[in-house]
Amino acid sequence: MKAAVVPALGAPLVIRDVPVPEPGPGQVLVRIETCGLCHTDIHAARGDWPVKPKIPLIPGHEGVGVIEALGPSLTAGRPLVAIGQRVALPWLGYACGHCRYCVAGWETYCTAPAYMGYTMDGGYAEHAVAWASHVVPVPDAISSMDASPLTCAGVTAYKGLKVANPRPGETAMVVGIGGLGHLGLQYARLFGARTVAVDMYDEKLELAAELGADHVVNARGDQQAELAALGGIDVALVTVPSPQAMRAAHAALNPNGRLVIVGLPSDNHLDLPIFETVLSGKSVIGSLVGTRNDVADCFEFHARGLTRVITESRRIEDVNECFDEVLAGKVPARLVFEF
Ligand code: NAD
Ligand code: ZN
Ligand code: ZN
Repeated sequence: MKAAVVPALGAPLVIRDVPVPEPGPGQVLVRIETCGLCHTDIHAARGDWPVKPKIPLIPGHEGVGVIEALGPSLTAGRPLVAIGQRVALPWLGYACGHCRYCVAGWETYCTAPAYMGYTMDGGYAEHAVAWASHVVPVPDAISSMDASPLTCAGVTAYKGLKVANPRPGETAMVVGIGGLGHLGLQYARLFGARTVAVDMYDEKLELAAELGADHVVNARGDQQAELAALGGIDVALVTVPSPQAMRAAHAALNPNGRLVIVGLPSDNHLDLPIFETVLSGKSVIGSLVGTRNDVADCFEFHARGLTRVITESRRIEDVNECFDEVLAGKVPARLVFEF
């Protein structure tokens, strides 16, 4: 099968013909139809984070495709998976189901997880193996092109807002209107908040306005003055991998404001003022993707017509150019590889 492979950290990806993987016990083989390009895939290929991915690596955790074969222990049939079923392969490739976090409904913080396209091979290939327990069925009403970005960008933005719980009467700001942010903005509206979109490119701000942002702010301007004039921010979802953007969002928070960090810069340090945090009761919350239920919620909202997914189709052969385009901020919200 054709796959895009990271041969070494920091090296360009190479298109290789590799054997179709075999599903083990508890796993399924999926014929991939689409896989989105998440900014995380770029961090993975570069080895940007303290915990490194497997190498060689097939990235991709927005894979959507059809189950083609079941692993040995699944031949008797499980209610949730069947050959021919279309499923999504999210970042949370596996969680144990037994640790205190899994049992409490926080499987994203499982003590023994596997991550698609990071600790196991992912969806930048014609086939991928996934754990049957952690694939998420895709409703017929949703195209694979739309389902791919919802599988990581959507669920991460949704869950980040869910933990901060913006309420009607509050102002929610989404910083970075890329893959995560263009969906985060729409979810913030579903929560009923007044919305502010921040990016450094005017095209992204135009998209935000089209998607219903109440206000748009260019990060290159006097952001603090503009946000103060809007009455400050109650919930800030920062999708930009930049400590500076996180500090700016923290500074704009009102009393009881919640800063939700989902962007994951290679610079792993963030300085925040303690006095303002304490005196104004500000919260700083990290948030990692979402559970299978959260992914299903995002699919359900989309099937009901409540969200729009902005994508552009690409060939996996162009993966390195696509990485460059994303880094230059010159793409519509999400690039999606079609197989
Ligand atoms: P993206 O490249 O699609 O979007 C980033 C957006 O930020 C772009 O629109 C860009 O123009 C904008 N931007 C860049 N610098 C800016 C600045 N200084 N101020 C304002 N806007 C700026 O990226 P993405 O796929 O949405 O991912 C964003 C980050 O989130 C990455 O670091 C990724 O690894 C991380 N991520 C985290 C999780 C999680 O579970 N926490 C899940 C997925 C992605
Ligand atoms: Zn992702
Ligand atoms: Zn667990």
